[in-house]
Amino acid sequence: MPLAPFSLLLHFEPVKVRFWGVRGSIPVPGTSTARWGGNSSCVEVSHKGAVLVLDCGTGARALGVDLFRRQVRELDLIFTHFHMDHLFGFPFFGPLYAPNFQVRISAPSFSPEEVRNRLARYANGIYHPVRIREMPAEVSFHSIKPNTPFDRGPFHITAVRLNHPGGSVGYRIKCKDRVVVYVTDTAPLAAPGEGAAAGERPSVLEQHLLDAMHRADVVIFDTMFNFDEYLEKMSWGHSYPEYAVALCKVAKVNHLVLFHHAPDASDEDLDGLASTWAEHSEPRVTLAAEGGVVDLEG
Ligand SMILES: [Zn+2]
Ligand SMILES: [Zn+2]
Repeated sequence: MPLAPFSLLLHFEPVKVRFWGVRGSIPVPGTSTARWGGNSSCVEVSHKGAVLVLDCGTGARALGVDLFRRQVRELDLIFTHFHMDHLFGFPFFGPLYAPNFQVRISAPSFSPEEVRNRLARYANGIYHPVRIREMPAEVSFHSIKPNTPFDRGPFHITAVRLNHPGGSVGYRIKCKDRVVVYVTDTAPLAAPGEGAAAGERPSVLEQHLLDAMHRADVVIFDTMFNFDEYLEKMSWGHSYPEYAVALCKVAKVNHLVLFHHAPDASDEDLDGLASTWAEHSEPRVTLAAEGGVVDLEG
């Protein structure tokens, strides 16, 4: 029997993270956001044809188009919470309209019915012309409980509670030996000068988040505010870069991706933020850009 070419033996299928929407609060298309992107939160993690979609902001529309191009016929969609910027794209997500497309939808909730009911209140014939029960795809609903691990295809996932009005959860996603952590939306889990970021003892919630982030290859973190904005709007439920960087350092994270950019942040503002952190190591820090891809070799 002929041996496989050496190049094939070395070929590993990467775990891939792709950003379809990187903006928080409201989509902001326009000339001042064209380079970093104006669509709201939607991130894809994929491996060997298995697709995990994190949130369904307006970025999900283009993702749906791309999934058909790639001839994907099933996926998992996981919500962090149901604020509109994470939901706007749901009724415009093409796979929901394709018969025989399997879409498994999961969200933090008490029951699968609660997940379905929350989405049905949005896709109900009033706010969107098509009701959820009229969507032709094979849709199923699943409940997620924080700190109770679950599997979706090759992805082993744990949800962790965050600090956000109405509640939100982050996800630690392990695939092969790679770990991606998605932490949006959240305010810091400690006040300035307290908690792990300040070298102090973390609260129980902050320790859970640190555990979820521990030695991750990539952490995607809500940094919608700068520090002064955070002080003005502490109850809004969003973080700032210095907190994310400090937490990632404690958790020994390799690469931090700043995410959920403020709608008022222009391309020039985000260029400035990127250059501020460009030389940082432990962790390396970059900004999420719409269309950007992070490849993690397995
Ligand atoms: Zn948000
Ligand atoms: Zn939110």
